[in-house]
Amino acid sequence: FRRLRARLSRTREALTSKLDRLFLGKKIIDAELLEELEELLITADMGVETSLGLIEAVRDKVKRKELTDPARLKTHLKAEMLTLLTGVAVPPLHPGKPHVVMVIGVNGVGKTTTIAKLAHHDLEQGEKVLLVAADTFRAAAIEQLEIWGQRAGAAVIKQKTGSDPAAVVFDGLAAALARRVDKVYIDTAGRLHTKVNLMEELKKVARTAAKQIEGAPHEVLLVLDATTGQNAINQARLFHEAIGVTGIIMTKLDGTAKGGVALGVVQETGLPLQFIGVGEQMDDLRPFEPEAYLEAILG
Ligand code: GDP
Repeated sequence: FRRLRARLSRTREALTSKLDRLFLGKKIIDAELLEELEELLITADMGVETSLGLIEAVRDKVKRKELTDPARLKTHLKAEMLTLLTGVAVPPLHPGKPHVVMVIGVNGVGKTTTIAKLAHHDLEQGEKVLLVAADTFRAAAIEQLEIWGQRAGAAVIKQKTGSDPAAVVFDGLAAALARRVDKVYIDTAGRLHTKVNLMEELKKVARTAAKQIEGAPHEVLLVLDATTGQNAINQARLFHEAIGVTGIIMTKLDGTAKGGVALGVVQETGLPLQFIGVGEQMDDLRPFEPEAYLEAILG
């Protein structure tokens, strides 16, 4: 926990210093204070809808006289945030082998390194893992996945740049079945300038997987970069509408003050945040634990 707290220090410093300043010298919770608090949450990247919802919940408590002391406001706010974060359930995993995970997200968010971290974790658990390089658009992406695969100790299935991503997936899943692997991670393209084509390509990849292995892809994980703030929420909406996402991974929470965006993404998409990236090392991807997270950014 101490390490998590250290990695999230920029968000914590920004949030707590602003909150302390807001509460300083306040004796009562009035409309003005709540309005200022609402603005603070919005500027902390939580998103307008989420901030309004949190303040509404706090306002209700004030009305019911359950909350009167400004000094208690932070505790109540934290409780509302916890309710928000725990209200979204992680979907149950489908049984069966191999378990196919499609990883999506725009270029640069940390998709490839996140796959390596996930694979590293599974390998440590004794699972057999295969990586599929389905971002055939960028030569560097295939190379990167290979390098990371080697580092994590996972085999990589690839074809040359420009080949059909669905064909790579077909090959990859055939290999996964033949080698009896436990888990497959499919790395996908994330070029933003041709959004429509990208979405069609991702759908085709998913269809290919479904034809080969029942229920595949069993998970579609969307990787979002916390440093992009509100943009991450927009990306989540876009991908979820087009592809259907099962879970979110938020990277680069270390070194950004925008950690509040985690709440905005969960609230505004209704999707579970499953992992957070807090650094560049293999063990810097952690399962998202709402209580520990809130403690680290507000404690
Ligand atoms: P992709 O284009 O989405 O595949 O992105 P990459 O996996 O190549 O990552 C882009 C950059 O983000 C790399 O320099 C990674 O080391 C870095 N990165 C990924 N996750 C994290 C994280 O959680 N924290 C930090 N600080 N950097 C990260």
